[in-house]
Amino acid sequence: MTVTHKLINQMIQLQELVVADMQKKALMPKIRLEELEKSIDALQADLPQQIKTHFNRLLQKHPEAIVPVSSDTCAGCGMGLTRSLVNAVHKAEQLHRCPNCARFLYYPEQLVERERKSRVYGEARKVGIGRFTSPELMMVSLKGTTPEEVLGEMCTRMAEEKFVEDGEHLLDLALQREAIVSTAVDNGLAFPHVRGVEGGGLTLMVGIHKKGVKFGGPGRTLTRIFFFMMIPTSTSAFYLKLISGLSRIFREKEASNALLEAEAEADLWKVLIKATKKMIK
Ligand SMILES: [Zn+2]
Repeated sequence: MTVTHKLINQMIQLQELVVADMQKKALMPKIRLEELEKSIDALQADLPQQIKTHFNRLLQKHPEAIVPVSSDTCAGCGMGLTRSLVNAVHKAEQLHRCPNCARFLYYPEQLVERERKSRVYGEARKVGIGRFTSPELMMVSLKGTTPEEVLGEMCTRMAEEKFVEDGEHLLDLALQREAIVSTAVDNGLAFPHVRGVEGGGLTLMVGIHKKGVKFGGPGRTLTRIFFFMMIPTSTSAFYLKLISGLSRIFREKEASNALLEAEAEADLWKVLIKATKKMIK
């Protein structure tokens, strides 16, 4: 990994914390977010002075200070970028910024399609959200009564289905992330995740808790729908897009009820694919 790649990853991570901080504060104005703020300060302190200044200046104007190149345009402002700039961003020998909006640019990694064959639905090439998940990763009846138990159930499934070697280690990491600030948002959704799980693509698991569980959501809301993700560093920014898309879709009652009503894992899979069809091509 080059110095530039490291800087880019650091900025993406910093941005995610900043976004999490903003989201949380908007949802729960009274919550104390000291840990999160400490992590932000620590990541910021690590950035070279010039970059830090520019990064913060951008954040005052936009929610995102670093954005991917998307079909040869800046994903931030939509400005078309020259082929030579796109190539330079791809090479990442140095940092580049959008000539229009001045946001930092990075080239999104292509998400590798997993080699692992789906046990249930055979050979069909996966499209849409199916590229990041699998029928084996649908759980329709989580039973746990605490965040530890619920995440434990999902991590055990990840290990049983050989998506990770060590489910307990995965659980530790997921709990560490929850300890910074809960990933529960409103409308009964939560986005627990573990980042820096390299060696595979972004992996999404969907867990349904029909009764609902206290997961740190705003007020006393119960969480019923869990989108649990393992996120390789290179997919951090895509992940942000993914969770904002998922939360947009499933904050609608009709869509979330369809997930909650799924009786079998195959049903959950179908509902998920159908509901997200327009979000991911
Ligand atoms: Zn731009």
